[in-house]
Amino acid sequence: MKQNNDFTLSILVPVYNEERSIAPFIQTLYSSLDSIKANLDVVFVNDGSSDNTRLAIEAVMASDSQVSLVNLARNFGKEAAMTAGLDYVKGDACVIMDVDLQDPPDVILEFVELWQTKQWDTIYGVRVDRSKDTWFKRLTAGGFYRFFNWVTSETKIPENAGDFRLIDRVVIDALRQLPERNRFMKGLMAWSAFRSTGVQFQRPKRHCGETKFNYWKLWNFAVDGIFSFTAWPLRIWGFIGCAISCLAFVFMLKIIIGATFFDVKTPGYASTISVVLFLGGIQLISLGIIGGYISRMYRELKQRPIYLVEGVYGRYGNEQGSQGMNLDQSNHQVKKAS
Ligand code: UDP
Ligand code: MG
Repeated sequence: MKQNNDFTLSILVPVYNEERSIAPFIQTLYSSLDSIKANLDVVFVNDGSSDNTRLAIEAVMASDSQVSLVNLARNFGKEAAMTAGLDYVKGDACVIMDVDLQDPPDVILEFVELWQTKQWDTIYGVRVDRSKDTWFKRLTAGGFYRFFNWVTSETKIPENAGDFRLIDRVVIDALRQLPERNRFMKGLMAWSAFRSTGVQFQRPKRHCGETKFNYWKLWNFAVDGIFSFTAWPLRIWGFIGCAISCLAFVFMLKIIIGATFFDVKTPGYASTISVVLFLGGIQLISLGIIGGYISRMYRELKQRPIYLVEGVYGRYGNEQGSQGMNLDQSNHQVKKAS
């Protein structure tokens, strides 16, 4: 299948308040992919946009049957939007990309070439030049990936790689079988990457509009990623507790022996208060970390669908994604009308 031109290439594009990006994106995408003889399957996942993104997609769909729309019921975040899209795409391979042209469509040609000739299952884009990002973003992003790879043993995320990538059908099917609700997609995609390689590219500035990720969102994203791919922070408190107890025992012996046999008067206040505060801090940190895991376990336990679909338009009309839930259309319309 991979060797010839008879294949379907899905392009999965999560979008949130991107009304002005849709038309330029489609135009650039098609001109870049002109030389590929594949059946294209472009799936926009509208992640609860409050502007006219949906109308902009429908305007494209009116004259283009290769384009479909999965319309989520509200904003679920990019990770859930990508999960939703993967539930619907039908391609032999799928390219995941942003709509703001920061993931240049030309690079897809290299992805496809490597996929066809070298049989890689995942080909991810590596940003060689992050000079368009602020120094703070570069520093924190670089620091995060190094920290993530240091604390996790099982999964390594390639540095400077975003979500922009081509994944083979085997990877899509593997991802669809991961039932977890905490969807740190970069980690999940690295976990199920099979044979993978990177392609370097220059990341241009956003074509129009502005980023949807402020630093608070990025912080939560980073914390989610680390909690999702580690377990050892839950276990270290036993060791820390043992070490502190041993030290405390030795210290206690010293004080008792000193006071009993050598009449040493140990001044108390400063040392007592610092030990109490130090231990209080350690206990709060441990509780916070345990709380972080428990809240995520609680989220998993509730088994809520990862996304809610308002409707699917285009070629996948009545289908149901396995990891989400489709609202009952008739019921929904009645509720809206009343
Ligand atoms: N996006 C989304 N849901 C969100 C936030 C973003 O689907 O809640 C989409 C967005 O429309 C874009 C892609 O994710 O197509 C990347 O977003 P953005 O360009 O803001 O991220 P950045 O490039 O700044 O990391
Ligand atoms: Mg962007």
